[in-house]
Amino acid sequence: MVHLLDGRWEATLLTSKLQEQVQRLKRKGIIPTLAVVLVGDDPASLLYVRKKREKASELGIFTHFVHLKRDTGQDVLNKQLQDLSEDPCIHGILLQLPLPKHLNVLNALCHIVPTKDVDGLHPMNVGLLALGEPAFIPCTPQGCLHLIKLWKKQLAGLNALVIGRSFLVGKPVAQLLLQENCTTTIAHTHTKNLPALCRQADIIVAAAGRKHLVQGDWIKQGACVIDVGINPLTMGITGDVDFEGASKIAGAISPVPGGVGPLTVMFLMHNVMQAAECISREKL
Ligand code: NAD
Repeated sequence: MVHLLDGRWEATLLTSKLQEQVQRLKRKGIIPTLAVVLVGDDPASLLYVRKKREKASELGIFTHFVHLKRDTGQDVLNKQLQDLSEDPCIHGILLQLPLPKHLNVLNALCHIVPTKDVDGLHPMNVGLLALGEPAFIPCTPQGCLHLIKLWKKQLAGLNALVIGRSFLVGKPVAQLLLQENCTTTIAHTHTKNLPALCRQADIIVAAAGRKHLVQGDWIKQGACVIDVGINPLTMGITGDVDFEGASKIAGAISPVPGGVGPLTVMFLMHNVMQAAECISREKL
């Protein structure tokens, strides 16, 4: 029978661990604080920001919300991120993406000090991850690896296929799987014969944002299938994998919703705690 990789349950387990960690820091007089910067009023972004703030509050992490107008200029945004970087009360900074079209994401990210870059998107952290050095690792990829490890602890030598090459998900997931000594392939829109690549894969991470792109009969018997995709339905959301078909053949599979999503938020909080712990050690 297929092993359901239950992200909600795993997030609950991580919640108690993080709550203890927060309390330990508070006893030392440090209130872990996350600054969340949002530009504009994109409804999906507003929802994500609300969810992140609610989770932080549940854990005892303070959030400092900076809501900038849609027409905010690059210089104002950069200055805001720089000020937060210099503020000793702020431990982590999250710039909610996507930004309005007139703003340059990379330029903005470069104004977050790498030690507070809890999304792991500053070029310094991206580079450290590629080098296999300690870094802030983007949250969704950490969630993917966490779920894969519930299936198998030792991944060395397995064929992993990552569908999608974004800097937010696909590329960092591939880096993590490479560090686990998987033979890692990245597929993207120019890839030829995706079904054949899927059929060779012991691990598939589907992060294309295409509803039910991965069919049940593309899955290798016993493989681990991680569905990162979020595709809107009239009611709710669905993933990039045909869950029903894939569940009949896979060894383990993550559902949408209830798979990677809840873990993404938890790993953001984990990164905030990592940043706060680092700063607290520096103060000793
Ligand atoms: P993106 O649009 O930046 O990247 C999508 C990637 O998929 C691109 O590299 C593209 O080349 C590739 N792709 C698209 N169609 C393809 C196809 N037919 N075959 C092969 N490759 C294809 O998206 P993203 O930010 O990487 O996010 C991917 C999906 O994951 C989206 O649905 C997004 O909503 C979801 N997401 C979920 C979480 C979560 O917490 N669960 C977090 C981030 C993103």
